[in-house]
Amino acid sequence: MSNRERVRSTRALILRRRDVNDADRVLTVLTPGDGKLELIAKGVRKTASRKAGHLELFTHAALLVAQGRTWDIITEAQTVESFRHVRENLEAIAAASYMCELIDAFAETGDELRTIWDLALFALRVLDEATAQGDPPPNLLPWFDLHLLSLTGFQPQLFHCLACGKSLAPTVNFLALHEGGVLCPQCAPQRTDVEPLDVDTLKLLRFLQSQPWSAVAPVVVRKPILRRVESVLNRYLIFTLERHVRSASFLRRLAATANPSDA
Ligand SMILES: [Zn+2]
Repeated sequence: MSNRERVRSTRALILRRRDVNDADRVLTVLTPGDGKLELIAKGVRKTASRKAGHLELFTHAALLVAQGRTWDIITEAQTVESFRHVRENLEAIAAASYMCELIDAFAETGDELRTIWDLALFALRVLDEATAQGDPPPNLLPWFDLHLLSLTGFQPQLFHCLACGKSLAPTVNFLALHEGGVLCPQCAPQRTDVEPLDVDTLKLLRFLQSQPWSAVAPVVVRKPILRRVESVLNRYLIFTLERHVRSASFLRRLAATANPSDA
């Protein structure tokens, strides 16, 4: 095989970075064609590195990648989108970092992840444009959570009772996090570990799960309802990650924000 054949180009979103050796860094990236990859950027921690500026977290970059022994090697990197408005706003940085960590936790290496790639880039662009004019949109992260869960096959069932299958009526239903959805008032008493779920919270969860961002963006949600939705999603993510994914560091971070009063 010639050198030319061993070098390939790919787009990449930088999800995570860790330092190795004296001056190198291993990057976990999401690509549109090859799913999640771990690549090494050699010498990138030296001040003279030309690649460093193009390999920051949540940068969309164009890479040239050569075959390596342990990790494939990034030989060239160019920024495609830096999301510069996000980088100027702490709340937006936290939101972008959260999205990258969640993708990293749910995306399996080698999966076909084109749909996740599209969602990630879309959400970062929304965040960047909104931050250019003000603050991050409050509905964005819950919308992102629910759409990522759907794309990875972990979507909670919010429309039909998990036990009897009937359409859920607009009344107080019951959330069964460990079963992945909601139970109707008739079926809930037979189960343990359920909690009441009010109509407004269920309505908003359904709306966020089933609608494109263009429909969700203009909707102004009352803060208490949004907080309840965030709490449900946070705990559902913790349960799903513990059961299926085991991303320990991200779990700790989620748990720390799930019950701020316990901290
Ligand atoms: Zn039922």
